[in-house]
Amino acid sequence: MQNINKIINGKMYADSLLREILPLSSNYSDKFLRNPCLAVILVGEDPASKIYVKNKLLTAERNNIKSIEIKLLKETTEEHLLNEISKLNKDTNVDGILVQLPLPVHISEKLVIQSIDPLKDVDGFHPTNFGALFMGDPNFIPCTPLGCFYMLKKELKNLDGKNAVIIGRSNIVGKPMASLLLSSNCTVTITHSKTKNLREHCRNADILISAIGRPEIIDETYIKPNAIVIDVGINRLDLNNIKTNEKKYKLVGDVRFEKVINIAQKITPVPGGVGPMTIACLMHNTVKAAYMNKNEDFVNIIEGFS
Ligand code: NAD
Repeated sequence: MQNINKIINGKMYADSLLREILPLSSNYSDKFLRNPCLAVILVGEDPASKIYVKNKLLTAERNNIKSIEIKLLKETTEEHLLNEISKLNKDTNVDGILVQLPLPVHISEKLVIQSIDPLKDVDGFHPTNFGALFMGDPNFIPCTPLGCFYMLKKELKNLDGKNAVIIGRSNIVGKPMASLLLSSNCTVTITHSKTKNLREHCRNADILISAIGRPEIIDETYIKPNAIVIDVGINRLDLNNIKTNEKKYKLVGDVRFEKVINIAQKITPVPGGVGPMTIACLMHNTVKAAYMNKNEDFVNIIEGFS
C-alpha cells in the first residue's frame, strides 16, 4: 500500500461527522427557536489552551451552535470559578459547559469537574458520566477517546478480539479509551510510565493508541507489522533560529510518523489526526446535551452507541 493511503485523515472524518451534526443543530433551532449553546470557561493565558478554545468556538459558530466564552484571570479564586459554573448550571439556555484544562495550581480540577451538572458535562469528565461509561451505559463520552473510537470503527468496522494497547492512563484519554475498546470486544492493555517492557507490549498491539505527551518516542521498533496506530500526543518542538532570532515551532505526535508509517497498516498524523476529531465530538456532545435539555430523543450518530 502506498504510504499516502495509510494516513487516517482525521480532518476528513471530523468534517464528515460535522456534516451529520449540522442538520441536527439546525432542526433544533427551528423547533426551539434558539441554537444549542456551549459555554466555555478559560482561566489564565496558557497559549495552547487559548488556541484550543478559539478552535472550539470557531467550530461551534460554523455548526449553528451558540457559544459563550468566559475568560477569567489566572488569579481567579476557586470560589469565583465555582460560582460561575453554578450560574451556568442554572441557566436553562446553556446546554453544555466546558472548563478548559489545565487549571492554575491553586484551583482543584477535581472539585471543578464535580461541580458541573452531569447533564451539561459535554467533556464527559464528571464522575457520573465517567462511571456510566465504565458500566457500559455511557451518556457523555470524553471527546478525545470518542474521536479515536469513531475513526477506529470507520477504519476497521469490527474490533472483536483485537489486541489494543494504550500508552497513558489519564482520565482524559487513556482510561476512557480503554473502556470504549473493551466495550467493543478488544483485549485491552493499558501501559504507563512505570510499565516494564513497554516495547514488547506495543509490539503485540493490533491497535496502538499513544497518549503520552513526549515527542516521537514511539519509533518503528514498537510497532507490530500492519498495526493501526492512533497518535493522540501533541508536542511542540521549538525550531527557533538563533542567527535570525526567528521564533518557529512545529507540532509532532508521540510517534515517529515517517518511520512508523512504513510498518503500520494505518496511522493518524499530527496535526490533522485526533485533534479535529476531538472538536467534532465536542460539537456532537453539545447538540446531544441540547436535545436532552428539552427532553427530546437524540439518535446517536456515532456507531457503537445507542
Ligand atoms: P497526562 O500527562 O495526563 O498523561 C500522560 C500519560 O503518559 C501518563 O499516564 C503517563 O504514565 C504516561 N507516560 C509518560 N511517560 C511515559 C513513558 N515514557 N512511557 C510510557 N508512558 C508514559 O497527559 P494526557 O492529558 O493524557 O495527554 C497525553 C497527550 O495527548 C499530550 O500530548 C496531550 O497534549 C495530548 N492530547 C491531545 C488531545 C487531542 O485532541 N489531540 C486531547 C487530549 C490530550
